[in-house]
Amino acid sequence: MSVESSALNVERSAKAHSPIRELDYALLQQCIHCGMCLPTCPTYDATKVERNSPRGRIALMRAIADGRLEPTRIFGEEMYFCLGCLACETACPAGVKYSQLFEAAREEAEEAGVLRNPRRNVIRSLILKGLFTRPRLLRFTGRLLWLYRASGAQNLLRLLQLNKMLPYRYRELERMTPSARSKFSGQLIKAVERPAGRIAHRVGVLTGCVQDIVFSDINRDTVDVLLANGCEVHTPRVQYCCGSLHAHNGEVEVAKDLARRQIDAFDVDALDAIITNAAGCGSHLKSYGILLAEDPQYSARARAWSAKVRDIHEWLCQIGFRRPKIPSERSEFNKLSVTYHEACHLCHGQKITRQPREVLNAIPGLELTELTESTWCCGSAGIYNITQPEMAAKLQERKLRHVAETGASIVATANPGCILQLESGVRKFSTRVAVRHPISLLAEAYRSEG
Ligand code: SF4
Ligand code: SF4
Repeated sequence: MSVESSALNVERSAKAHSPIRELDYALLQQCIHCGMCLPTCPTYDATKVERNSPRGRIALMRAIADGRLEPTRIFGEEMYFCLGCLACETACPAGVKYSQLFEAAREEAEEAGVLRNPRRNVIRSLILKGLFTRPRLLRFTGRLLWLYRASGAQNLLRLLQLNKMLPYRYRELERMTPSARSKFSGQLIKAVERPAGRIAHRVGVLTGCVQDIVFSDINRDTVDVLLANGCEVHTPRVQYCCGSLHAHNGEVEVAKDLARRQIDAFDVDALDAIITNAAGCGSHLKSYGILLAEDPQYSARARAWSAKVRDIHEWLCQIGFRRPKIPSERSEFNKLSVTYHEACHLCHGQKITRQPREVLNAIPGLELTELTESTWCCGSAGIYNITQPEMAAKLQERKLRHVAETGASIVATANPGCILQLESGVRKFSTRVAVRHPISLLAEAYRSEG
């Protein structure tokens, strides 16, 4: 053990807060070491090293819980090499709740400070605590991003190939810079919108943080689809980041604070459902009940909240959504081929696989071609493509290769991170495919009914 980690361990003992040791031990005992999860784990698939597998990671966590191991830098790096894709959770016959273990393990690494260095501390503090907890600052940053593109600075930088002068990591970052919209959700969606006919349901819509800035058009499409299905839509003016980024990066207390603020922003009792169109957010929003279970003021409200959160596809299928009525030969989608990439936190995190396909299959003329390894992570995984660019790039290439094999002209996916990761891959490999959210395709189909 290095001098540095020994010192940190002394500091850690003094604090005596260990998220892994405070976990219900039964969660760690659930793993029966069968190895069924190994073939589904992208990091194990890439390295064939046991430590990079779900079973290996759980063994490390258990060693910490048993007091046989103190968190080290290697432990921290291992937990951040994990994508958090939860493919292992789907594959596990013993019902291991890897998502809870993973969040505790990353918090353990942060609490122990094994990955601390000045540059990392500043970036984490600026992004996680500064930017993503302040909706106004986030929108201001969105405006700057929009200006960067709209002023032509981005094009000029790429035309003059100045980006090639940047180190690899920053070059990749520049290539992945999302294009902010000129209008955010608050300018496109009214606080309350009512359907033309009878009101069958009353729902709230989450506009998200990145989604609000980069994909406000998808939020508008979501509201349009809900209106077309008899929903009165409530979109609170001030909303917060759901906190998934924080919970998955060891900042659980900040995640709890954001969850409380988000619950306060909605009149939960007055709504039949709270709708999200972002898979990563949905998975986390549904876990508020667990996240705030020990909070005497919020636990009951958090449980009520979690019970009402619905992914948009899940909600549409639950209420029996209306199929667009356009003769397929007149449909603008006629004979257009679409393939579907399953966002990890939709298929593994929320077990929603059938409903997005139902939405796509309901669009007249659109032909769905199944994607090989549709549930395999694309490498986006929150901010994984920034923190682990090499591994993320391998997964991106693998995904784009499978998309190209389908011959589809559209790849649909329901998570902002996946859309950005696929779009950046499309640019990188000059693939001729459009990346769309299934709900935007459904909204277009409704609009073309006239
Ligand atoms: S979450 Fe994904 S990357 Fe992490 S251990 Fe499970 S399958 Fe592997
Ligand atoms: S499949 Fe489940 S029980 Fe088997 S090794 Fe993986 S996590 Fe453990």
